Amino acid sequence: MIYKRSSALFAEAKKYIPGGVNSPVRAFNAVGGDPVFVKSAKGAYLYDEDGNKLIDYIASWGPLILGHAYEPIIEAVIEKARKGTSFGMPTEIETALAKLAVTMVPNIDKIRFVNSGTEACMSAVRLARGYTGKDKIIKFAGCYHGHSDSFLIQAGSGAMTFGSPNSPGVTQGTAKDTLLATYNDLESVKELTKANKGTIAAVIIEPIAGNMGCIVPSDGFIKGLRELCTQEGILLIFDEVMTGFRLGKGGAQEALGVNADIVTFGKVIGGGMPVGAFAAKEKIMNHLAPDGPVYQAGTLSGNPLAMSAGLAMLTELEANPNVFKSLADKTAYLHKGMEEVLVKNGIPHQINRFGSMMSVHFTDEPVVDFKSSAKGNNDTFKKYFHGMLQQGIYLPPSAFESYFLNDALSYSDLDFTIKALEKIVDGLK
Ligand code: PLP
Repeated sequence: MIYKRSSALFAEAKKYIPGGVNSPVRAFNAVGGDPVFVKSAKGAYLYDEDGNKLIDYIASWGPLILGHAYEPIIEAVIEKARKGTSFGMPTEIETALAKLAVTMVPNIDKIRFVNSGTEACMSAVRLARGYTGKDKIIKFAGCYHGHSDSFLIQAGSGAMTFGSPNSPGVTQGTAKDTLLATYNDLESVKELTKANKGTIAAVIIEPIAGNMGCIVPSDGFIKGLRELCTQEGILLIFDEVMTGFRLGKGGAQEALGVNADIVTFGKVIGGGMPVGAFAAKEKIMNHLAPDGPVYQAGTLSGNPLAMSAGLAMLTELEANPNVFKSLADKTAYLHKGMEEVLVKNGIPHQINRFGSMMSVHFTDEPVVDFKSSAKGNNDTFKKYFHGMLQQGIYLPPSAFESYFLNDALSYSDLDFTIKALEKIVDGLK
């Protein structure tokens, strides 16, 4: 496949936009080469600026669980747009989406809409701090909660030392309030809570992680975390920006049978429009302005176009919960097919999967946390990524990202993808 026009468009974009993109992973830095510029998409397929048709495994990084340009969503947005695009005043549709979300998700009474997953997680942490009157948070290395300062932190050298900024522009003052634990290692959290007793407002986690590849929590890890948080008076925040309305109606809380104190959403809840949300029981949510003292706001929050896309999406998922099983079955089928090819050809690999999230890692060792994920062979990954792209398969352009299947994918698309791997596998040896 030829990507000539994409390369030209990228060169032009770089003149006016830092790195040519509005979000770094789009630039292909992890895999090299020029990014593909998309022109349109429908169902499971992307159509790029060079006229190539690609099978899409990222679905806009998760939101488009029913496929691109899904008719009921498009219709809802067009109809809404005709009546005005933003008012900065309350609208009935905000309550309709809130009500539906609250009925689908366990253990939440109220929800506040924002414009991105970053905003949702940032606001959830502020709410947790305001509610508990404590300053510190624990996050897990390799979990991503958006680009707010408190989350751009790397580990210090032990439980007693503070984290340090991992981006210029994040202050030491902010970093000292974020403590780093190891995913799937409850002991690492216990050490931090012991060393920082009475000062921790919240533990925030991707209950099934998707930002160091797909990492599945080991038996008892999330339940243990829940017990520890309850014991220590710490709020447990599930960042369900990826997992919410993807793993099932009730997201990871339902899939794992564990309740969080605050849950954050993004991606699917906006049906492809810029939406995030955070939710909790009434006694916590009532601390938010204007009911309570914790400030949080947004000019475009609850935007009518975004709400109409979200409402159309959740209405479909509510009416047809078989989607979640259908997606999980398709993901399992792809997993099995790819695994067979890699095993037959002696390529060291791990495939992690949970529901419709999945990732392929080129390593012998189980991938259970950030460290083990980082051991994957990136040269092999690059060859794999570009090989598949040449075959018309669009995978996440980084080994640290999860695939997001969408239900428009057919079994013949999956077979085509497995065959594509067969064609390129020799190049991975
Ligand atoms: N939380 C998780 C788990 C995410 O995967 C992401 C983005 O990928 C975010 C938060 C941030 O969301 P956004 O990119 O909408 O700000």
